[in-house]
Amino acid sequence: MSTRKGMDRRDFIKASAAGLAGVGTTLAAGPAAARGGQAAPEAAPKIRSYRELGRTGFKVSDIGIGTSQTFPPEVLKAALDAGVNYFDTSEGYGRGQAESSIGEAIKGRDRKSFFITTKLRLDGLADAAAVEARLDQSLARLQTDYVDCLLMNPPSAASVKDEVYHQAVAELKKKGKVRFTGAGTHGSRTPGRGEPMEDILLAAVEDGRFDVLLVVYNFLQREPGDKVLEAASKKGLGVTIMKSNPLGRYYDTMSRIERLKKDGQPIDERLQKSMAQMAETAKQAESFIQKNGLETPAEVKAAALKFVLADLRVHTLNLAFNTFEDVQSSLALSGAGLSGGEKGLLASYERDCGPLYCRHACGLCEPSCPHGVPVNTIMRYNHYFEAQGSERYAMAEYAALEAAHADNCRTCQGFCEAACPYGVPVRTLLCLAHSQLTLS
Ligand code: SF4
Ligand code: SF4
Repeated sequence: MSTRKGMDRRDFIKASAAGLAGVGTTLAAGPAAARGGQAAPEAAPKIRSYRELGRTGFKVSDIGIGTSQTFPPEVLKAALDAGVNYFDTSEGYGRGQAESSIGEAIKGRDRKSFFITTKLRLDGLADAAAVEARLDQSLARLQTDYVDCLLMNPPSAASVKDEVYHQAVAELKKKGKVRFTGAGTHGSRTPGRGEPMEDILLAAVEDGRFDVLLVVYNFLQREPGDKVLEAASKKGLGVTIMKSNPLGRYYDTMSRIERLKKDGQPIDERLQKSMAQMAETAKQAESFIQKNGLETPAEVKAAALKFVLADLRVHTLNLAFNTFEDVQSSLALSGAGLSGGEKGLLASYERDCGPLYCRHACGLCEPSCPHGVPVNTIMRYNHYFEAQGSERYAMAEYAALEAAHADNCRTCQGFCEAACPYGVPVRTLLCLAHSQLTLS
């Protein structure tokens, strides 16, 4: 392969892979690089499109800020200067540090020009006073008197009617501490651990008291989100999107498989088969870059995000802003349409690389697992590790997981893999995830 822009083929594949792990939030030069003193870009692109966030009436930038980790305040300020005005956060992100970094970034700016959504863990909160006490802590970190939306994370369709939450929100609205109500979830299909995302969010739409939804939707995981978007759009709800970028890391899959083989644990015939399937898919992913003549992997990520932006039922995308490069690359997408060529690129990616992606908010295979391993949740933690650069957060979440871990997968027959309609070699992925998330 000829060199491009001074890169040899090996570098390009490696950079492409890091990029496919999340261009702009590259694994190799992720959040630490930003904190390490990156120079601010001379001129970040400006937000070119604002959309009305459903019945809240607030005009949000089509690119918003949202991630499970902390953000460098100077990077956030660059995004705000460029016109980004939507934040999605939670008391739990970085144990409150994400809220604190937002508080730092908005200090001295017109509070009314931003829409801030935060989330509280409601389990164990007995009444409205307990909810208010916890919200007050978030408000202190955010350095504000109110949040625009208090978003609940309901585990089931029935729980969207949680009266503690609704009473609390009603009282907090009267006090001016909360303006709107929201719901968002990844859902689960593991027996006893919840219900599918679409069932829960459709129940929230039906309930009628929610103003804003947070939905999983991307070009490889369309169907569940599509149902929710359609229902929300008919009722005039605001729709914000998470996991809009499903691209994964594959560049070192082979070496990771080799490490797994050498760690002294048993590898039965079925796991060998799963590993071979994974290796084959990884090869296809590599040839995808060559076949499509990509200049940079950013082209795939850009097309993936434009796919979601092109859907006018969507009001804003919650993206990670860890580096100034994120500000540049994400803001360049504001107001952009999806070209025919980009549609073709995504179709090609889906065909060649689709099996690398364990679909967020899926879990179709989970009921088949005899050990009750929450496949989709573990693969989501792995996504935080690989695609969002949130290594410590991902490992802490995995360690705290109150369910069977993926160490069970080494000696299992791989029922989940047989049940996956997308051909994901998920048994191998789970083994790799376990190894990575435990550093074993
Ligand atoms: S392995 Fe397949 S069926 Fe299981 S959660 Fe992932 S995408 Fe869904
Ligand atoms: S490999 Fe086996 S133990 Fe692991 S999730 Fe799949 S069915 Fe469950």
